[in-house]
Amino acid sequence: MNTLIEKGVEYVMPFYVDVHGIPKTKTVPIDHFDRMMRGSELFTGAALDGLGQGPHDDELAVLPDPDRVMQLPWRPNVAIVPGQLMYHEQAYEMCSRSALAKQIDRAAKLGLKLNLGIECETYIVRLDPSAPNGIAPNDPRDNISKAAYDVSLTLINMEFLNDVVSSMNQLGWKVHSFDHEDANGQFEFDFTYADAMTMADRFVVWRLMMKELARKYGWEATMMAKPYADRTGSGAHFNMSLADAKTGENISGDASDTRGCGLSKRAYQFLGGLKKHAAAIVAVSCPTVNSYKRLIKTGSMTGYTWAPIFISYGGNNRTHMFRVPMLRPHIEGQQNSAAHENLSSARWECRAVDPCTNPYLAAAMFLAAGLDGIEQDLDPGDPQLLNMYELSDQELASRGISQLPQTLLDAITAFEKDDLGRRVMGDALFKSYIDLKKAEWWSYHQSISQWEVDHYLTKF
Ligand code: GLN
Ligand code: MG
Ligand code: MG
Ligand code: MG
Repeated sequence: MNTLIEKGVEYVMPFYVDVHGIPKTKTVPIDHFDRMMRGSELFTGAALDGLGQGPHDDELAVLPDPDRVMQLPWRPNVAIVPGQLMYHEQAYEMCSRSALAKQIDRAAKLGLKLNLGIECETYIVRLDPSAPNGIAPNDPRDNISKAAYDVSLTLINMEFLNDVVSSMNQLGWKVHSFDHEDANGQFEFDFTYADAMTMADRFVVWRLMMKELARKYGWEATMMAKPYADRTGSGAHFNMSLADAKTGENISGDASDTRGCGLSKRAYQFLGGLKKHAAAIVAVSCPTVNSYKRLIKTGSMTGYTWAPIFISYGGNNRTHMFRVPMLRPHIEGQQNSAAHENLSSARWECRAVDPCTNPYLAAAMFLAAGLDGIEQDLDPGDPQLLNMYELSDQELASRGISQLPQTLLDAITAFEKDDLGRRVMGDALFKSYIDLKKAEWWSYHQSISQWEVDHYLTKF
């Protein structure tokens, strides 16, 4: 506590997330830090989504994780610390962070650890009542047709980007690059991977950071998966690798792999589990009505959307749900030195994740599915090396490739049918998630869009 006071911290926010992954807190003046760390802060769960309480229930407590106190670089008199929800001295069954902790323990029993790197994409927009849907790019100069990697568009936003990147680095996240993304006003920030829990905590803080820093400029950083119909959506690709729980060594790669992706047997089994449960997983990793408007192949004014539409994997290929970023082909009879160098960064990314996800529940779903794959020796089939956007229905059928859910309703139906969500979340959170997401779908379905009026009002 004294170090925090020396650093200028006046307030501490112990936080947990609701079912959507949105952080909630009671702010505590620093004098009460010690009490707060022992779990003094109590919450009425009935006030929040997906915590399963009624107005008659006793309160929930948050027990902060002492190793994760983060002083907010852009607001240095505030520190934030994630914690676990408790009910009457027991871990609370509907706590998202505990759901992930449970899968991390399960992996540890198998001698495994999941590492995670999240590629953070977001649109920076202005709220403008005269623009379509009320949103416009933050800077009117950002209007060239191929915005990806553009130097000039990066430079005109450099003051804001520097605020973001220096905040991330002050938190010790080690940004390795950031760029202007494919669509106008869209940016991506990439930083060093960490264990799954650390990365989930960071992602929640990153979303807060983006919002706060953008508002300093009068802008909004939106986490919406598809804010513009005619531009690519925002993803939050989850890059996953398996490590030995004791030594920390990455055990995802195998230089002698003959299957084409340079992965180890356990990595392929993990992918087998991910593929088996993919339709249920996206109900969590792509959690909104709008999320499914991103998972299409066309409709971007710049051409591709770079988003997945099929449950497939293979190589350095951006048209799959699961991409294996570095292809390390085995060359018969030859020592492939590049392959050995790459073993420490062997990984696969899931592209069917967007920034609206609850990162604790998403990581828990991925880890649980992958561990199922290992325990049940599931085979992901052969990698696909083709442009998935161009395959005909017959070609897809002959390869046994199925489509990702196309709406939130499809996804939540798949989620309900699969036992994975129940095992990850427990009965109460599983049911609550289904109820909330079905209600979200029906609320959307009961609205009549401008498109319907334009197409049907006078047609028949
Ligand atoms: N924006 C894309 C998505 O929705 C990804 C683009 C990229 O990383 N090349 O996933
Ligand atoms: Mg990227
Ligand atoms: Mg990107
Ligand atoms: Mg990626």
